Amino acid sequence: MTDSGGHRHHVDPDELVSVEEHRRVVLSSITPLEPLELKLFEAHGCVLAEDVTAAADVPSFTRSAMDGYAVVAETAGRGATLRLTGEVAAGTRDPARVRPGEAVRIMTGAPIPAGADAVVPVEVADEHDGKVQVRATPEVGDHVRPAGEDVRAGATVLRSGRRLGAADIGMLASVGRGRALVHPRPRVAVVSTGDELAEPEATLTPGQIRDTNSYTLTAMAQEAGATAFRHTIVRDDRRALTEAFEGALSHADMLVTSGGVSAGRYDLVKQVLAQLGDVAFSKVGMQPGMPQAFGFVNRSLSHPVPCFGLPGNPVSAFVSFEVFVRPALRRLQGRTDLNRPRINAVLDEPLHSPAHKVSFLRVTLRRDDDLWYARATGPQGSGILSSAVEADGLAEIPSDRTEVAAGETVVVHLLVSR
Ligand code: AMP
Ligand code: MG
Repeated sequence: MTDSGGHRHHVDPDELVSVEEHRRVVLSSITPLEPLELKLFEAHGCVLAEDVTAAADVPSFTRSAMDGYAVVAETAGRGATLRLTGEVAAGTRDPARVRPGEAVRIMTGAPIPAGADAVVPVEVADEHDGKVQVRATPEVGDHVRPAGEDVRAGATVLRSGRRLGAADIGMLASVGRGRALVHPRPRVAVVSTGDELAEPEATLTPGQIRDTNSYTLTAMAQEAGATAFRHTIVRDDRRALTEAFEGALSHADMLVTSGGVSAGRYDLVKQVLAQLGDVAFSKVGMQPGMPQAFGFVNRSLSHPVPCFGLPGNPVSAFVSFEVFVRPALRRLQGRTDLNRPRINAVLDEPLHSPAHKVSFLRVTLRRDDDLWYARATGPQGSGILSSAVEADGLAEIPSDRTEVAAGETVVVHLLVSR
């Protein structure tokens, strides 16, 4: 089996760490970020780290659900003529009492005056010359929203561990909370390394390629819920790498680098990371994405920061992020749903995989009757980013298979967010 570059890799299978084992090493070492009190919009999408209870009833007073007349139901039957004694708008403090035989004009959301027990909607009342004539008999409680109708004082409205969606943000506001204790979004620094790399808008000189990975990886980190920063390109130079990584680590909860972790003469990233902290290099039994660096660098006064040194080929970096970094980022956020949704799909065509390695192949999906069908997006080399652009998912070919035939079923990890 050939890899992306078309050359054969002679890998001793005993050297390989399995994908599951590497994932276990990564995920077992990562814990959710210390909770922070964040303002509501900053907390949106984050996982709550406290139980939220209501200090008071919501609403805190009994109010009208309609525009109409606050009345004493017993004296306001069909045909009754009531004396209009005043008006109460939303936001009024102490509306005057309503007595039997009286009506007070009332707006939606206004407090029900003492003495009143129902609201007659404007649609079924006629008002003229200070009198209100009722056309439909009200029941006690009609169009009256009691205090605590939504939430009772003391009730727990949101539980710790819940990811805050739009309705949750509204609920926090409703119970008087402008902030919530949540696991914050991880700050992720993304650094591409390589002497051959140029910025997207640069004119390429011979031997240069554009830096793809820092863009892909920063965008992937953002999609995974992080606040991600792209660092400028760093050369294959020990000092430049050390300075860039130290700088990036000073304001990050995670460092993700690409390039410089394979066996070349200028693959210095793994050496520099290993010098900065407790970062180990592994050959993971997967394709693409075999060389992986992972570990922690200790910043002074703070927690050790997880660092991923991903391989440089654009699809290797992409797949490595999917398999290892994305679940790690979700765990940092306090999330327990770490993985993409997966489905079983029938292969439309055979797929190949190297011996002893799990392959993650870019596939498009189609649905027919009750089944999903998958086919490769095109050439699967680790430098072919177009194969990722077209992909609906990553088909996983187990390490004990070198070919899966058309008609066989494989697991596909869907590249959709949940
Ligand atoms: P490396 O992991 O540094 O040995 O790089 C492996 C391959 O990926 C080489 O062909 C690099 O030129 C390429 N590569 C490395 N970094 C990037 C990047 N940021 N964007 C695009 N290609 C890259
Ligand atoms: Mg390189």
